[in-house]
Amino acid sequence: MNIQELKEIVCQENLNLVKYGLVTLTWGNVGQLTEAGDAFVIKPSGVPYETMTPADMVVVDLNGKVVEGSNRPSSDTPTYVELYRFFLQYSQENNAKLLRGIVHTHSSCAVAWAQARREIPCFGTTHADHFYGSVPLTRPLTEEEINAGYEVNTGRVIIERFKQDKLNPVEIPAVLAAGHGPFAWGKDGHDAVKNAVALEAVAVMARDTLAINPNAPDLEPWVLQKHYNRKHGPNAYYGQR
Ligand SMILES: [Zn+2]
Repeated sequence: MNIQELKEIVCQENLNLVKYGLVTLTWGNVGQLTEAGDAFVIKPSGVPYETMTPADMVVVDLNGKVVEGSNRPSSDTPTYVELYRFFLQYSQENNAKLLRGIVHTHSSCAVAWAQARREIPCFGTTHADHFYGSVPLTRPLTEEEINAGYEVNTGRVIIERFKQDKLNPVEIPAVLAAGHGPFAWGKDGHDAVKNAVALEAVAVMARDTLAINPNAPDLEPWVLQKHYNRKHGPNAYYGQR
């Protein structure tokens, strides 16, 4: 895939965020890592979705430097740089699938959980089909971290959260940044958008579950395992081959 094709994909996936109802105003973006894995394509900052074209997309290297494009990249770019470096390292160290797609939105129910400073528990099989356990929550950023580099440190606390409990970002492809909102990822931009859609859906379902029964139990671990593995395990059998 050349860079032009990648820009078309990233532009289309940004438009898909709107189509799936995850975006208010311009709060949301999708990025995807190049084949070589040394740069990524991301949405420009503040360009309206109605007029956005592939030519508006910006190519940024893993030092956060714009290498192609006349627009400024999304203001979330430093967070993406941190996450991509983590995913590349994770993939090498664990011989795991490289996560090339990242999505950030302010989809309302996932934001509500982030603002309530609560992880999203796994109450049922819809959740288990996409996330192998609770969707984690980061710690809040300190005042020093905000002043020193808000977006960079948003990425760093996400990574800290995954390292702290040895969470697997392939199995749990989303996180809630405390007081802020969701980040989701996947094997490419399309997969990341799908996970962002699933995240918002399970956020709504979990909220409603707790409204009906504040003491609702977590899904039984053996059901969680069955559901996750039939879609993602080595012997996955859900869907078409
Ligand atoms: Zn945000």
